[in-house]
Amino acid sequence: MDPDSFKDFAKEMTEFITNYLENIRDRPVLPSIKPGYIQPLLPTEAPQSPEKWQDVMNDIERIIMPGVTHWHSPRFHAYFPTAQSYPAIVADMLSGAIACIGFTWIASPACTELEVVMLDWLGKMLELPKEFLACSGGKGGGVIQGTASEATLVALLGAKAKKIHEIKKIHPEWTENKIVEKLVAYCSSHAHSSVERAGLLGGVQFRKLDVDSKSKLRGETLAEAIREDQNNGLIPFYTVATLGTTCCCAFDCLEELGVVCNREDLWLHVDAAYAGSSFICPEFRYLMKGVELADSFNFNPHKWMLINFDCSTMWLKDPTYVINAFNVDPLYLKHDMQGSAPDYRHWQIPLGRRFRALKMWFVLRLYGVKNLQKHIRNHVSQAHAFEDFVRADSRFEIIGEVVLGLVCFRLKGSNELNEALLKKINGLGNIHLVPSKCGSEYFLRVAICSRFSESKDIEYSWREIKLRADQLLEEQSVSK
Ligand SMILES: *Cc1c(COP(=O)(O)O)cnc(C)c1O
Repeated sequence: MDPDSFKDFAKEMTEFITNYLENIRDRPVLPSIKPGYIQPLLPTEAPQSPEKWQDVMNDIERIIMPGVTHWHSPRFHAYFPTAQSYPAIVADMLSGAIACIGFTWIASPACTELEVVMLDWLGKMLELPKEFLACSGGKGGGVIQGTASEATLVALLGAKAKKIHEIKKIHPEWTENKIVEKLVAYCSSHAHSSVERAGLLGGVQFRKLDVDSKSKLRGETLAEAIREDQNNGLIPFYTVATLGTTCCCAFDCLEELGVVCNREDLWLHVDAAYAGSSFICPEFRYLMKGVELADSFNFNPHKWMLINFDCSTMWLKDPTYVINAFNVDPLYLKHDMQGSAPDYRHWQIPLGRRFRALKMWFVLRLYGVKNLQKHIRNHVSQAHAFEDFVRADSRFEIIGEVVLGLVCFRLKGSNELNEALLKKINGLGNIHLVPSKCGSEYFLRVAICSRFSESKDIEYSWREIKLRADQLLEEQSVSK
């Protein structure tokens, strides 16, 4: 592709993107195609000779769009949000152009140094304790991981290396295998599936502990599990506290867990994947009370802070154990400036890493803290507006508490009734929700996701749910 074609192509793509996003509300949120739809639309082989970019452009609407679930439609209420904004899209263009692999400082100093500063900026926006920030001059600092799942695994591997090191000092005759076999980690039964997966990948036992009536993991529950395991000769080493669970946005008692972990010498990792973005607003910071007791803290700006996937920010008070856990040092990766700036390859699973700090820099500068706070507050207030609609209809009930942008609710009645309601709603595809369960109770979740969402959208979604409930209850009373 010659440079002039690139300019035309990019210009046309910018036009397409803008039209797509600004009119996204008009598309059905869920595709109506069947599995296997795309293969018949494509040739069986890659073309031998180059095609025209205009032909590729024309195929986007014809081939790709029919199979897209529109995550940025205001009618999308499934899972948790994923972020997207114009500044982040433009930053990714630049990242694509520089296309460096920033595994060490010398491999692209700007890639590492901008990341260090961005993690300090963001850490300060959340008022994280200074022990987590590189600018405090201590050991602490932040890193951009691809996902929260990787952050949980990286912290676990750091905690594992630290505990093995400690135990070896007490029992020099024990083999590493003998120690690993005894290691045990903890999380709440509502922790994200990636937490359990970190245990499998890290080769250690994970115990899922019961939550209280408000779906919170409590300090006493953890303390009791630790006592029991210690009595059985096991070695507790790691706890994951979730702030904002995926199933119902509950918050573990971080302060209580922190006291127990500090006392028993367990690494405490905080998974605030979704909720963390809200801590840029002072009024939501009470939700992370006790964070000063944690060893590592992670959240996903790629969920709720307008920075496109992948951007999962993680801070460590002392990255030494993580760095040592993965440190292999072949000659071709060594450089003269080692030690003066982080070599981020030691902080993560892969070697390669993109220039992701650019999209943080663009978004933080082009929105400003004020507008990012406004975005969070806007979603929280829309969630409360939706909650009011649910509460005003006596056939429905709210599950748990609406704290941020997630509303959990159900039709009063059986799980089957609610399953039928969800099937009806998703089957029509005007809006998209996913269900959840706390214990044995099945309910529906409405997450406010789109940056385009306005109160008229929340009204639309509620009308849709109410209408399908009317129809369902009508059908059921006829069939009786
Ligand atoms: C979304 C979510 C995750 C997983 O995030 P990834 O970045 O996709 O790994 C983990 N924990 C919680 C609480 C989440 O909501």
